[in-house]
Amino acid sequence: MSGSKVLLVTGGSRGIGAEVVRGAVTRGWRVAFSYVSNAAAAEAVVHEVTQKGGEAFAAQADIGSEADILRLFEAVDGRFGRLDGLVNNAGIVGAKAQVSDMSAERLERMMRVNVVGSILCAREAVRRMSATNGGHGGAIVNLSSVAATLGSPGEYVDYAASKGAIDTFTIGLAREVAAEGIRVNAVRPGLIDTEIHASGGQPDRLERLRGLIPMKREGRADEIAAAVLWLLSDEASYTTGALLDIGGGR
Ligand code: NAP
Repeated sequence: MSGSKVLLVTGGSRGIGAEVVRGAVTRGWRVAFSYVSNAAAAEAVVHEVTQKGGEAFAAQADIGSEADILRLFEAVDGRFGRLDGLVNNAGIVGAKAQVSDMSAERLERMMRVNVVGSILCAREAVRRMSATNGGHGGAIVNLSSVAATLGSPGEYVDYAASKGAIDTFTIGLAREVAAEGIRVNAVRPGLIDTEIHASGGQPDRLERLRGLIPMKREGRADEIAAAVLWLLSDEASYTTGALLDIGGGR
């Protein structure tokens, strides 16, 4: 496996990120992924993919901390010595709230993890992948959300705004580094069956909202991972700056 391409996935211990890790290993990538607190879930993913003959390791890192991000990339350098892909997947939602009730602390944490963390990870990836810096080129996929287009009123406008920033960042970075051999795209999932809804205090969110979706069902994490993996692949060699909606028609 040495010599095969290396992918870093932030937040690969659960949900969409874990499906990206599984799919990438199956496609021959060597994979590093981060988690923030659920070491047992991360270890389970590493165990599962290595049992199948893949190569993966997990590292603890809070994507809201620049020091942790630098440590994460240094761990990838040390283990694999190259980087060909980044999936900026780690993201958080807050509790359901009106903007009039949101604290500065909540807003700062939201933007620090979802926006600043993703941009810092992209910075580190570009520094390593840029063909003008001696890198091999590569691909970055950012996890946005259909919330960026809907605004999430009465639920979490701050989260939606963070994903709007990710969309704009995706377009800008894609154009900035296109000539350096790096493609940058975003996937905008709709309502997907993961634990993120319960983490925001809404365990019944899927049941409440699935009727609003044209396909009348929530999506699965592997349905998002499939698009992420395509955007990482050479099949998407002329695709950059794209914002791909995957929301069952929403
Ligand atoms: P999830 O099930 O809640 O999993 C989140 C993952 O991110 C976990 O691996 C978690 O690690 C990690 N994480 C959380 N906070 C972190 C932090 N501060 N630093 C580093 N890692 C952190 O989430 P998901 O539903 O798969 O969502 C993945 C991405 O898709 C997010 O960017 C989300 O906004 C986006 N998205 C999701 C949906 C949806 O309906 N699910 C829809 C649109 C967009 P631990 O296991 O250690 O906690």
